[in-house]
Amino acid sequence: MSINLPGKAPRFLVRFWGVRGSIPSPGPATARYGGNTSCVSVEGEYADGTPTVGIFDAGTGIRLLSRELAHSDKEIILFLSHTHWDHIQGFPFFAPLRQADRPIYLSSMEQEMGLFQLLLAQVDGKRFPLRLEDAGAKLLRFTPEKIAEQQRLGYQVQRIRANHPGVAFGLRADLRGMRLIYFPDNELFPPAGSDTQHTTFAEMAEFCRGADLLIHGAQYTEADMPAKHGWGHSVVSQVRELAAAAQVKHLVLFHHDPDRSDDELDRFQGESEEWFRANAPEIRCTVAFEGLAISLP
Ligand SMILES: [Zn+2]
Ligand SMILES: [Zn+2]
Repeated sequence: MSINLPGKAPRFLVRFWGVRGSIPSPGPATARYGGNTSCVSVEGEYADGTPTVGIFDAGTGIRLLSRELAHSDKEIILFLSHTHWDHIQGFPFFAPLRQADRPIYLSSMEQEMGLFQLLLAQVDGKRFPLRLEDAGAKLLRFTPEKIAEQQRLGYQVQRIRANHPGVAFGLRADLRGMRLIYFPDNELFPPAGSDTQHTTFAEMAEFCRGADLLIHGAQYTEADMPAKHGWGHSVVSQVRELAAAAQVKHLVLFHHDPDRSDDELDRFQGESEEWFRANAPEIRCTVAFEGLAISLP
């Protein structure tokens, strides 16, 4: 999948396993885009050729990814945007957890902030039949030495605070010259002075600047507002403005509302293509669906 020939640019494969926000939403109206909650994987190699897979969030989509990972020896690193239920609820079903001595790296900042405790607490024998101590896998933290080694091999992940209830982040992964932004839950324009207001639009545009891929939550339409203003999610049109301001190459609209039907998402795709043709024709836009795979750069 990831063949690096001398002089060729490195390639990363980004795959979407769950694209829904809030709660899994299976059913006939969501069958095409999918009903699993947030999970995106980024597969590739470090500069020394070691295969690695970064997993962004552990919504119910992670179950589908993990069936594959259980049969590979790729280094697994889990990053969390935050610990709302729709971003952690698939973790007990993450198959590598049950593999004896399988190393699973948990990125460091979440540990420092206690976010991973909420993720791991689901596997306690009460909320789920398995207890973490009986699971088998080796859960490892990212030490400063590991972070430095990763950076030396061309892999760096940084964060910015999202405008969202509780503690939530947008993540920026710089991977051997490729830049990916994962920003699932974020309200670009929260109510002024509210306690979800942490980062300005200009700061976010700077954080996302020039990304090869911007994955951003696009849960609402203008019609959903003002009832949902302050809930921590953006309107589709605002997300298009961010992509244009940050001059990204490809925008993926993500974290769909559980009530959003396939037909409505088809309309988002059509409207967005029209908007970018008129306003920023160099930017590609895709409405995320389960099974979407994007090869970078
Ligand atoms: Zn969410
Ligand atoms: Zn959230």
